[in-house]
Amino acid sequence: MQYDQALKVLEEADCLADRTAVEAALDRMADAITASIGKKNPMVFCIMNGGLIVTGQLLTRLTFPLELGYLHATRYGHQTSGGDLEWKALFHADVEGRTVLLVDDILDEGVTLKALADECLARGAKKVLTAVLVNKQHERKVMPGYCADFTGLELPDRFVFGYGLDYENMWRNAPGVYAVKGL
Ligand code: 5GP
Ligand code: MG
Repeated sequence: MQYDQALKVLEEADCLADRTAVEAALDRMADAITASIGKKNPMVFCIMNGGLIVTGQLLTRLTFPLELGYLHATRYGHQTSGGDLEWKALFHADVEGRTVLLVDDILDEGVTLKALADECLARGAKKVLTAVLVNKQHERKVMPGYCADFTGLELPDRFVFGYGLDYENMWRNAPGVYAVKGL
């Protein structure tokens, strides 16, 4: 995308959560995560690339022992289901017997996050928890009522960007969560 066009996208977008709202959401998530697994020495995985900013900003709020890793997998095409993941980065950490926390930007249908959680369980993780900054509100979840264990913001079913989420590979750096005009 051209520079001018990218500027226009941000200018025209609807801000659904500004920096203050996102930071308050991250504070709440950190408190809930600490209460849940603060004594479990968890293995935390950032789901690349979208989870990068959420993970980074969440981790400085977690003041307990943990290990950090990353996972990168995308779905083959859009129609495919469940385990059909294309791995862009292989598991480099042993999760056997561990408490695992997966951190991602958004839970849309939840296919990706559920497949990654299932993969951790298949590799012997003792418990797998999930955290997302945004949950998209609609009725198309991978299983009815599927949601993350820790959710920052409940947002409408629109295409959003910022805080790690991209719009055509741009604006992952936008300092809020924005909905693209008309989408
Ligand atoms: P799911 O498997 O939950 O349907 O899709 C999750 C992935 O789709 C997210 O990790 C994200 O990469 C992408 N995605 C879903 N909705 C949006 C959105 O509104 N904006 C952006 N930038 N990505 C989205
Ligand atoms: Mg993603």
